[in-house]
Amino acid sequence: MRYVSTRGGMAPQSFCQILLGGLAPDGGLVVPETYPRLTGAELAALRDRPYPELAFEIIRRFVDDIPAAELKGLIERTYTKEIFRSDEITPVKTLEPGLHILGLSNGPTLAFKDVAMQLLGNLFEYVLAKRETNLNIVGATSGDTGSAAEYAMRGKRGIRVFMLSPHGKMSPFQTAQMYALRDPNIFNLAICGVFDDCQDIVKQVNADAEFKARYRIGAVNSINWARVVAQVVYYFKGYFAVTRGNDEQVSFAVPSGNFGNIFAGHIARMMGLPIRRLILATNENDVLDEFFRTGRYRVRKSTEVVHTSSPSMDISKASNFERFIYDVVGRDPAVTAALWRAVETQGGFELASTPYWAEIEKYGFVSGSSTHVDRIAMIRRIYRDYGIIIDTHTADGLKVGLEHREPEVPLVCLETALPAKFAQTIREALGRDPEIPPGYEDLEKRPQRYELMDADVEAVKRYIAAHATG
Ligand SMILES: *Cc1c(COP(=O)(O)O)cnc(C)c1O
Repeated sequence: MRYVSTRGGMAPQSFCQILLGGLAPDGGLVVPETYPRLTGAELAALRDRPYPELAFEIIRRFVDDIPAAELKGLIERTYTKEIFRSDEITPVKTLEPGLHILGLSNGPTLAFKDVAMQLLGNLFEYVLAKRETNLNIVGATSGDTGSAAEYAMRGKRGIRVFMLSPHGKMSPFQTAQMYALRDPNIFNLAICGVFDDCQDIVKQVNADAEFKARYRIGAVNSINWARVVAQVVYYFKGYFAVTRGNDEQVSFAVPSGNFGNIFAGHIARMMGLPIRRLILATNENDVLDEFFRTGRYRVRKSTEVVHTSSPSMDISKASNFERFIYDVVGRDPAVTAALWRAVETQGGFELASTPYWAEIEKYGFVSGSSTHVDRIAMIRRIYRDYGIIIDTHTADGLKVGLEHREPEVPLVCLETALPAKFAQTIREALGRDPEIPPGYEDLEKRPQRYELMDADVEAVKRYIAAHATG
């Protein structure tokens, strides 16, 4: 398996060569040359496998330059009961026949990003040790990525993490998760601005080639390819959990922001997993819902981004989306590059009037959006009908998922966080606090450590230069 750029300007590279980046040198995103396709027999052989074995069987098809035994070891060390609190790793809860929740939030930071990030931490450490080098990870987070990255990288040899977060825009639990970490290789930069300001700064840091090379800057944001691949696994896991044979179809509802999670579902489908629909749910920031309804992709200005009660989906543009559009336009890098030039110059593009729009049907996407009122209503309804408390993002997924539910087709809704992370909205909906998982009771009371900074690239660069690993 080799990797190329969605914009065509990168000679094919191996998995480990692209592992530390995500962005291709021409500004595109790295993608595999082809998607591995599983035969019916291969798919059948994956059913009933324990999670680490399933993960190895999927992930190895995307990795060409880590010896199988070592890759297997890394995966086995990642997906353990100690880290994910059950042998299932991503257990399925059945609400009623044909309606399920795929629990992705049992890792250390109680959100689905741990599933990919914990593997990434081990992959990074492995590759850096092999090359006898080190890395300064610079990232931006609206809440969940940052803590997942920090928990995956804390204490790892040869790695320092500089995480930019929008000051005062995360939930108290999310904030505490990051700012209470005391590991000397973790640096929290609280930026006066919104998430997109943080993301823009990270982009500009990466655009400075000399700085990037000098300080060995790496990324763990949602465009990291290894993260996407790690997420493909649980679509298989969820599919097998709710079907008896591989002739059945299943639909997945996915609360979406940067289009990473649902893009992994797209890959699973391209690999031959019988997924009927990929149901994309947004919150009030409905860039992606607008696209799938109208064919128009229109990125928002950072001032247009609404601060919502499902904050991890508060985005102005969807950073993985280019990978999907690359498939939609027949994997033509020239067309993809032209569309993203239009994003830069005109703020978006329109596919509805092109032949590609008719093609999009075959990828199985449908979409919808959810508001604060919908979210509250859904949290109440699921609690009333099933006695289960869901988080605000999962509520968005269920709201849109149920709108598109078809009789006869099992619906699996991806749970992307635990309610403990968003206690304030749970109190508003249910008049009670969510359950706090063991070990997290005093989290918000722990002392916090962070650096408050203006949304100023040069200041951030100076800070990194002063604290980077040598
Ligand atoms: C990151 C995140 C999302 C959005 O996932 P994408 O891969 O960016 O689409 C949804 N819910 C939660 C809780 C998240 O942390």
